[in-house]
Amino acid sequence: MATKLQKPEFAYMAGKIVNWDDAVLHIGCEAVTRGLNVFEGIKGYWNNRGEFRIVFLEKHYKRLVRSARLLRIPCPWTFEQYQDAVFQIIGKLLTKERDMWARTTLYVTEGHWGEGTKADLIITAYHQDKVMPEPIHIGVSTWQRATDSALPARIKTSSNYQMGRLARMEGRSRNCSDMILLNSQGRVAEATGSCVLMVRDNVIYTPPASEGALESITLDFIEALAKSMKMPFVRRPVDHTELLIADELGICGTLAELVPIISIDGLPLHPNGPLLTSLRDKFFRVVRGEETDPALELSPIPLTFLKNI
Ligand code: PMP
Repeated sequence: MATKLQKPEFAYMAGKIVNWDDAVLHIGCEAVTRGLNVFEGIKGYWNNRGEFRIVFLEKHYKRLVRSARLLRIPCPWTFEQYQDAVFQIIGKLLTKERDMWARTTLYVTEGHWGEGTKADLIITAYHQDKVMPEPIHIGVSTWQRATDSALPARIKTSSNYQMGRLARMEGRSRNCSDMILLNSQGRVAEATGSCVLMVRDNVIYTPPASEGALESITLDFIEALAKSMKMPFVRRPVDHTELLIADELGICGTLAELVPIISIDGLPLHPNGPLLTSLRDKFFRVVRGEETDPALELSPIPLTFLKNI
């Protein structure tokens, strides 16, 4: 599920396309000294008519602006400027054979302890195979999601991923590809880079963001798809033990898409459970343009940005 580490030829920085090796930050800036940034991971898919379309771009922009507001990072980019930057770098690197995932980050390049803060929009984009995600083994981590008064999950900032990194390393030693983090109350928060879906007695449950999850764009989309398929979908707190007796489990997010879970802490689960498998199949039919759904928002890259293809 994770994007393999790649070193693309170009990145976007300081308002233009630059060579990968020139995309560097100064060691003195707060982006480096305090890991100060906010970011969004965005995904684009080829459809079967040969159009490349980025999904939910405006929603990602709005969440980026909200994260920046919470950390008091000025974001002078309008949506149109943000979109143009995304189109430029994706248009530069895109090939017909593969989809793309891009990280759009506001790195704080000037200022000190909240005074004189300025950021730069930096974008890196990576190729992704056009395949459906494979089912994975997952565990519950001993690391906890921070609370809203410590490091709010609502802010998509790199420092929020330290627990996720520790949890993934813990998971690796237990043969798990990803891990679920609990909140300070011992209830389910989210996975390291995605939200949790649980099926019990033909109802899909997911914890609300106030349990310590990012306000996920994919989750809203999956909820809309589930409702269009007449599957009951409920947001409510989820206990740790419910995960262990669930009929089906999955995780979802922009990068994860919808990954079914084969086992949790060594307890086997139905890998092709009926609800999450049909939701995953629907998800891919819709993003690939084989079916339409009013919940999907698309930004097709204009041909002018695709000179290399
Ligand atoms: N939680 C975390 C910690 C994430 O990093 C992500 C991925 N952005 C998600 C949930 C899912 O959010 P989205 O569906 O908006 O990508």
